Amino acid sequence: MYIPKEKLRSFADSFGVQLDETALERFDTYARLLAEWNEKINLTAITDPMGITVKHFADSLSVFRFCSFPTGASIIDVGTGAGFPGLALLIARPDLRLTLLDSTKKKLGVIENILAETGLSAELLHARAEEAGQNAAYRESFDFATARAVANLRELAEYCLPFVKRGGCFVSMKGANAAEELDGAKKAIAVLGGKVQSAETFTLEDAGERCIITIKKNSSTPAKYPRPSAKIAKNPLE
Ligand code: SAM
Repeated sequence: MYIPKEKLRSFADSFGVQLDETALERFDTYARLLAEWNEKINLTAITDPMGITVKHFADSLSVFRFCSFPTGASIIDVGTGAGFPGLALLIARPDLRLTLLDSTKKKLGVIENILAETGLSAELLHARAEEAGQNAAYRESFDFATARAVANLRELAEYCLPFVKRGGCFVSMKGANAAEELDGAKKAIAVLGGKVQSAETFTLEDAGERCIITIKKNSSTPAKYPRPSAKIAKNPLE
């Protein structure tokens, strides 16, 4: 085994999700391929097996501690990059229906290879979030949206909330500045039809302070959102 399997298993246990041998093998394959691909494409600064285990896999799985996903729930992971948190959630819970969205095609190519090697399937969506959010095929059609390290929460809410069905949730993974970001995003979240349900802070070993913000979608997002990216950046919702 390439990754410290028992360490990953015990992180997962502490987040309330059990990893069987198949899942651990899949995480091992994922870590190997991530390190290999990273020599050709810049995917992550973290390439050692322990770093990948804690800062990518365990960090992604921490979502399970604060959010319970019903069997078969649909999730769109916005700006998934090399698959975090979306692909890690799928390995732990293959019953979930994952759509992994990113604007960089070559990153989705890496995910396609990892899916093939691990025998899992997910929808890969090559698009900008603010464009896909205006497409009827994706708009308000997911039970959950997730995102890690993609944008400031105020902009991220405009990327992600349009994808979520009424009654669903947007789960945003943030670091030490979460409280400040949340303060600046409250108005935007309300305009987009959301309401903050919880913001849970915890420390993930040497990955430092983490915060998982859960935003419930209470009403439909007005049709004009998401706006084109230049408008979102120039004139953020406030
Ligand atoms: N979520 C992954 C993680 O935590 O490792 C990747 C984070 S990486 C810093 C940000 C990713 O978001 C990149 O892969 C980038 O292509 C993607 N991204 C940024 N803005 C986007 C947008 N508007 N629509 C789609 N993807 C976007």
